[in-house]
Amino acid sequence: MIPYYSLQKITASFEPHITNAIHDVTASGWYLQGKTNEQFENEFANYCQTAHCVGTGNGMDAITLILLAWQQQGRMMPGDEVIVPANTCIATIIGVLRAGMKPILCEPEAFSCNLNPHKMEKLITPQTKAVVVVHLYGRSADMDPILSVARQHGLWVLEDCAQAHGALYNGKRVGNLGDAAAFSFYPSKNLGALGDGGAATTNDSDTATLVRALGNYGSAAKYVHHYKGINSRLDELQAAILSVKLKRLDEDNEKRRQVAQRYHQGITNPLVRLLPMGEPQENVYHIFPVFCSERERLQQYLTEAGVQTLIHYPIPPHKQEALSEYADLSLPITEQIHRDELSLPMSPLLTEEEVDHIIAAVNRFA
Ligand SMILES: *Cc1c(COP(=O)(O)O)cnc(C)c1O
Repeated sequence: MIPYYSLQKITASFEPHITNAIHDVTASGWYLQGKTNEQFENEFANYCQTAHCVGTGNGMDAITLILLAWQQQGRMMPGDEVIVPANTCIATIIGVLRAGMKPILCEPEAFSCNLNPHKMEKLITPQTKAVVVVHLYGRSADMDPILSVARQHGLWVLEDCAQAHGALYNGKRVGNLGDAAAFSFYPSKNLGALGDGGAATTNDSDTATLVRALGNYGSAAKYVHHYKGINSRLDELQAAILSVKLKRLDEDNEKRRQVAQRYHQGITNPLVRLLPMGEPQENVYHIFPVFCSERERLQQYLTEAGVQTLIHYPIPPHKQEALSEYADLSLPITEQIHRDELSLPMSPLLTEEEVDHIIAAVNRFA
């Protein structure tokens, strides 16, 4: 069986460096808010070409903390509206809700599955204060028109980069395209920890200071509390592991692009639709989605051919029980994506033989 993504193999491919990094932290006796976290934050800010990076407990918290920071800055208030893509990972939407704000779901562009700037503009009301732009599947959203609509209407722009570490837009890194950005280091992301982790990046030092304080019970100096914050910090062990893995991120993303290019050249089955290639050097292919009106049958067929696939995601957020207040919305593009999407194996460790086996199986499906 070709696995969808073998975390065990990924971790093994970084040895002995991961074990050494863990040992260094274990021996240091310092496990939170220390030098290792600071070093990783500097490395990741450099990588994203931003002035600041603040480690958080996970990606969803990074979204919440950025919005809470903006509230402290007087940029917005609880109850204000935040436009989010309707077809994102539900964590994006819950992250906004936990900041006390109101997510407004926006349909994507069918050809990219990313936020549609025209539809976004139509949803803006006097209560709209921000937009969360998700770079879905590893490909940057089309930021120029989104930023121009946002600037015209005075909206703050939060990038959700949980699926796009290292992706570029017109040569510039995601995480440095809006006013602040949230990253997740969930184990299977392009840059993944061995547990939970996340970060916020921004060029605004006020936002960075506030995110740090709000993620540390609202404390900027030890035992002095300005805000009712939460507890959401990146620990030293995860930071050490992430420093090891960050060194290979560009190389790993390049290997993902080679796999994607082979898929694009090889898959010719008219029953299976791919997204257009776009600017190939800019996409980091967190996920390689294909679309098929008989998705369940295709998945079953591929399983029998020894190819493990996943679905991102089977139920759209507005049809989830947790978001029942959105259940009456009609979002046909989002619903079709969730009906048809199937994710093929995608990993920097896939061999050409494995990719060719997958392509042949997809092409045989009738
Ligand atoms: C994974 C993911 C998140 C959540 O990240 P966690 O670290 O699991 O909280 C948020 N948004 C998107 C688009 C994601 O893919």
